[in-house]
Amino acid sequence: MIVNRKPLTFLEKLYLPAIAGGFKVTARHLFRSLFGGKTVTMEYPEQKWAVPEGYRGAPYLVRDQDGNTKCVSCQLCEFVCPPKAIQITPPGPGGAADRPNAEKMPREFEINMLRCIYCGFCQEVCPEEAIFLLKDYSITGLTRQELIFNKEKLLALGGVHPGIRKWKHKFEEAKDQEDFPVKV
Ligand code: SF4
Ligand code: SF4
Repeated sequence: MIVNRKPLTFLEKLYLPAIAGGFKVTARHLFRSLFGGKTVTMEYPEQKWAVPEGYRGAPYLVRDQDGNTKCVSCQLCEFVCPPKAIQITPPGPGGAADRPNAEKMPREFEINMLRCIYCGFCQEVCPEEAIFLLKDYSITGLTRQELIFNKEKLLALGGVHPGIRKWKHKFEEAKDQEDFPVKV
């Protein structure tokens, strides 16, 4: 299909009306910000957008209330990750976990943030609720290697997430039994 382009008029060929139109928009925003107190820009990166709840930012590993690693190195997230951004090194024979009710934890856990597409599959598939897409959307670095986050970095960024521990200690289960049913 041939698209016949409309020839430019004399004024359009001068480009001056288009430049004047651009200055008009700039001047309007300038006066609004000077006298109306309304700004359309922000001081990024000092100022950042407030992202809504449930926003899918960068995936990080989280710790439970006691500060223990929740990941049990099952490698499901590594398997489902579409761009193969996750690389887990299992603990090998005798590798112990740092929390009760877990047999193992990863020796190393890397996420290549250059590959990650923030799809959330890792979070969906994780049986231990150990990996979450948090609100961090500004992932920058000076080298490619810098953007491969290791286990320590992922755990530090993910932080402690109370209230999402899958397995409870025996004393907490007993307490739940005492409190149930709730008396009114
Ligand atoms: S969010 Fe998607 S692409 Fe990123 S690590 Fe998880 S599964 Fe892989
Ligand atoms: S983050 Fe979850 S899915 Fe991935 S290896 Fe650890 S426990 Fe398994």
